[in-house]
Amino acid sequence: MRGQAWRLEARRLVVVACVGALIGFIFGEIGWGLSIGLAIYSSWIVLQVRRVDNWFAGASDDIPEAVGVWGDLLDKIYRLQKRERAAQDDLRATIKRVQESVDALADGVMLVNKHSDLEWCNRAARRLLGIQLGRDIGQPVFNLIRDPRFKTYFDQKEYDEALGLSMPNRPEQLLQLHFTEFGRNDRMIIVRDVTRISKLERMRSDFVANVSHELKTPITVLRGYLEQMVDYYDELPERWHPAISQMNGQALRMNALITDLLTLSRLESEHTPKDQALINMQELIAAVKEDVLLVHEREINIETADIALVGSPTEVRSALTNLMVNAVKYTAEDKPITVKWRPSTDGATMDLQVIDRGEGISPEHLSRLTERFYRVDAGRSSQTGGTGLGLAIVKHIMLRHDGRLIIDSEIGRGSRFTCRFPLFRLRAPESGIDTPMKGLESLNKKVDPSIKSLF
Ligand code: ADP
Repeated sequence: MRGQAWRLEARRLVVVACVGALIGFIFGEIGWGLSIGLAIYSSWIVLQVRRVDNWFAGASDDIPEAVGVWGDLLDKIYRLQKRERAAQDDLRATIKRVQESVDALADGVMLVNKHSDLEWCNRAARRLLGIQLGRDIGQPVFNLIRDPRFKTYFDQKEYDEALGLSMPNRPEQLLQLHFTEFGRNDRMIIVRDVTRISKLERMRSDFVANVSHELKTPITVLRGYLEQMVDYYDELPERWHPAISQMNGQALRMNALITDLLTLSRLESEHTPKDQALINMQELIAAVKEDVLLVHEREINIETADIALVGSPTEVRSALTNLMVNAVKYTAEDKPITVKWRPSTDGATMDLQVIDRGEGISPEHLSRLTERFYRVDAGRSSQTGGTGLGLAIVKHIMLRHDGRLIIDSEIGRGSRFTCRFPLFRLRAPESGIDTPMKGLESLNKKVDPSIKSLF
């Protein structure tokens, strides 16, 4: 079919050329005759091309009349065009369906491009954030959500934890924003209304705080009497000795539990620490080391940089104490423990690290360690006097200091607990609380490269 059309076209060219040449021969000018014949053929081709061009330019669906290879060509283009249109219609229908289903979601979905402009959002996002499609599409997203925390979170590009926000026109509603990066620096933001969940959460934590508070007095009384009994141990009948020492041990444990539960509820209920101060980390680490050495005999090595931290001295001390006591508890007596206060390897943040060469933790437990009462080995933990709340407390303290707790561990090699503090909380030596540092690069050069390895 294809070859036939081309053969026909070639024959037409030969016929036109021959007729031209013949007429030229009759008038004694073969060259002119041939040239005129070919000129007529070329004009005809130009006419066909013009038709095709007009067809492409025009909106008409009708295929123009054409002869020979041109008709064949137009047919093919027409078929291609039809297939293309059908594919486009399919695609449009699929996009519409996806948009309709995303529109029907109870959670809000927003698409933000690399220039931080809102590209599209579904019905729930419009309702939750008060966005109007016609007015707000194409607007910078910071004009629509004006909370400064949103911009800070948006720019930091670390979206492991969701962002909690309330809109100014609905302060009673608590929203949770989950960010995902995709494409070329585009972001998808899922907006969830967590008002009800957070109310339940508040009720739960109030309940735990109240119960712990109510238990505090009875347990203090019991402990007082038990301590007296322990003081008069030798005067009491011998058959009571095991019971008294067990009761005393359990009372101490209960007291530790209640203290930790109250600490956790306090950390959860207040957003920022009240006693913010400039903390000399070298002094704080040395003091915690002294405290730990009072109770346990252990080799504790310290490596510190001369950088101060703005935060709550009591909370940072509590976090470090928890980590160091854990390191002591879960490490054999002859194994050393190392505490480091040093810039992170990228030089952007400061790390407070407690490193041990203990038993280590297998990977499946790592993500759950900071849950309340989560223990790798419940027997071992209660044996060592643990409450199962220590790491949950450390995690909360870090959140309140705009930082995070990172846990690396390897079974049989040891564990490294890193409290990572952001740059804006750090101060150079001898500078005041109001003079933030510009960077840690100069300090980072001095870091021993071996630090980059895990242990
Ligand atoms: P606990 O009071 O039981 O120590 P934590 O919240 O402090 O509770 O720790 C949770 C669990 O994490 C512990 O029960 C223990 O199994 C594990 N863990 C914590 N620190 C270490 C460590 N340095 N080495 C090994 N395991 C640890």
